[in-house]
Amino acid sequence: MSGTLTIVGTPIGNLGDFSPRAVQALEETDFIAAEDTRVTLRLLNHFGIKKPLVSYYEHNKRERGEQICARIEAGENCVLVSDAGMPAISDPGEELVAQCAERGIPVLAVPGPSAVVTALALSGLPTGRFTFEGFLSMNKKSRREHLAQLTDERRTMVFYEAPHKLPTTLRDLYEALGDRRVALARELTKVHEEVQRTTLREAAARYADGGARGEFVLVVEGAPEPEQEETVSLEDAARAVRELAEREGVSLSEAARRVAALTGLKKSAIYHAASASE
Ligand code: SAM
Repeated sequence: MSGTLTIVGTPIGNLGDFSPRAVQALEETDFIAAEDTRVTLRLLNHFGIKKPLVSYYEHNKRERGEQICARIEAGENCVLVSDAGMPAISDPGEELVAQCAERGIPVLAVPGPSAVVTALALSGLPTGRFTFEGFLSMNKKSRREHLAQLTDERRTMVFYEAPHKLPTTLRDLYEALGDRRVALARELTKVHEEVQRTTLREAAARYADGGARGEFVLVVEGAPEPEQEETVSLEDAARAVRELAEREGVSLSEAARRVAALTGLKKSAIYHAASASE
């Protein structure tokens, strides 16, 4: 009988966030697939867990995924962890989950912290609808295309970024999206955790010369709702023309000219509508 794959979220900075159920999942599994086995070994040592580890990362994920699936199909249970946070979220795992799903292998989750939802929840920006944009590409063309797709995005947007790339990313976001509110969530769950709630222009200026330390998530306000144009119906405009003509003793033509200037409707159309209903 086939075993299962369980994806287990690991702390994004504070070991106290590793849940009892996550510890249990590691203790009970047959083997652990880890993004970086050295990082995971430290976690296992902290919790006094001994388990066989195999590496599963960006550059070996294709063939390693096959091997992991074959072992699970032969009856073993596997836990997948990444270095920090939820596997498969800007981390290896997405493909292993897809491979298992395709082969009918049961996939379970022991959810844990993830920087995207933690930063969003702390941002003070609307959380009802949001998009996760991950890391912006370093390839200029794809980066430009990605940003161009976001200019009219109304939902709150969440980006991951490495500290040394922060100045360029803040500048590019400001240039592409204009001045918007942004929350810079830094070192979440760690000693120096902070959330800077500012605007893209100010953040780009503040970090223009570097100086960013630690891990960052950027939460950017969505595009403003387009202003609703007030539309006046021809019928209302014609009524206004008749009232104006009567009140001020001007001709229908003069009243239609003034109402047209105010409403943007065609003077001739308003005049005809007003004369027809007299
Ligand atoms: N799988 C992880 C998750 O669920 O959040 C994300 C891994 S991704 C390779 C790493 C990025 O997540 C960092 O560059 C940073 O943008 C963000 N991140 C991870 N831990 C963080 C923390 N403690 N504080 C702020 N950002 C963090």
